[in-house]
Amino acid sequence: MLSRASVFKSAVPWLQIFLAALLWASATVAQAAEPIFKTVKVTERVYALVGELTQRSPANLGNNMTSGFVIADDGVVVVDSGGSAEGAKLIRQAVRAVTDKPVRWVVNSGGQDHRWFGNDYFQRVVGARVIASEPGVLDMKARGLQQYEAAKVNLGEKVAGTVLAYPDVTFSKRHKLAVNGVDIELIESGGAHTRADIFVWLPKEKLVFTGDVVFVDRLLGIQPGMGLLWIAALSYLRDELRPVTVIPGHGGVATLGKAMKDSLGYLTLLRDGAAQAFKDGAFDPVEASQAIDQTPFSYLVNFTDARFRSNNAIRMAEEVFAGIR
Ligand SMILES: [Zn+2]
Repeated sequence: MLSRASVFKSAVPWLQIFLAALLWASATVAQAAEPIFKTVKVTERVYALVGELTQRSPANLGNNMTSGFVIADDGVVVVDSGGSAEGAKLIRQAVRAVTDKPVRWVVNSGGQDHRWFGNDYFQRVVGARVIASEPGVLDMKARGLQQYEAAKVNLGEKVAGTVLAYPDVTFSKRHKLAVNGVDIELIESGGAHTRADIFVWLPKEKLVFTGDVVFVDRLLGIQPGMGLLWIAALSYLRDELRPVTVIPGHGGVATLGKAMKDSLGYLTLLRDGAAQAFKDGAFDPVEASQAIDQTPFSYLVNFTDARFRSNNAIRMAEEVFAGIR
């Protein structure tokens, strides 16, 4: 007769196999249910990779942005290489999932970490060439080490394998990318979220990747001295390029109207609100910033962060104040 203990003992291997299978299944489900970005087919040739609206984390590998790729006749053009080597690998996998064509080019839409921290992976492992604007490379050289230190904190051990690598090719102002079957123009924005943000413009498709020039769904962040330049860059996008489809730097694929509402609308509200506050006798930028009602944009993620909001208002008010002094 079997004792209780021996029954239990003989059950243990089965139990272990069962539990292991359960763990494997749940891990697989978790991976499938929560990819760090969504692949969105925009046209036959163009895909957006829409990342989280949250901050950089070990879970999102620093890819807390929207990137994408274009399938030309002779290869793929990736826009932005990711926030880490691991993040770059996932972008590469997303390309592989829709085409066997090689990645020929990677465009860095600016000098912020998630626009270029995957460069080394694409250059060394994938064999792609990387291109960025001259201001973009200056920005990478100026802030790269600081960004890398921040990535070590934000991504923890997931930063492993990330090597800072500059572009192979640079351009100034405007550049037509040498690929077949699709026109792709790289255009300096003149400065928006950073000095170095560019547009990746597909004139025939009337489609643009804006990098950090456009934020949708999420409140943007103004750097000191950049608010009015940003308004100018968005006005150029609206009045000169006039895209139908906007793949923003943060947030989902949008119409021009939605892109303008969430980015230009917000910046304009701050600018006009500050000007009005000075007219009404505000003493300094801080006082002016407090008079601006930002609630029309309370639907944006990050709006609840009061410090974020007030920094934006103060920075814009400083520029407006400098202009009327
Ligand atoms: Zn960004």
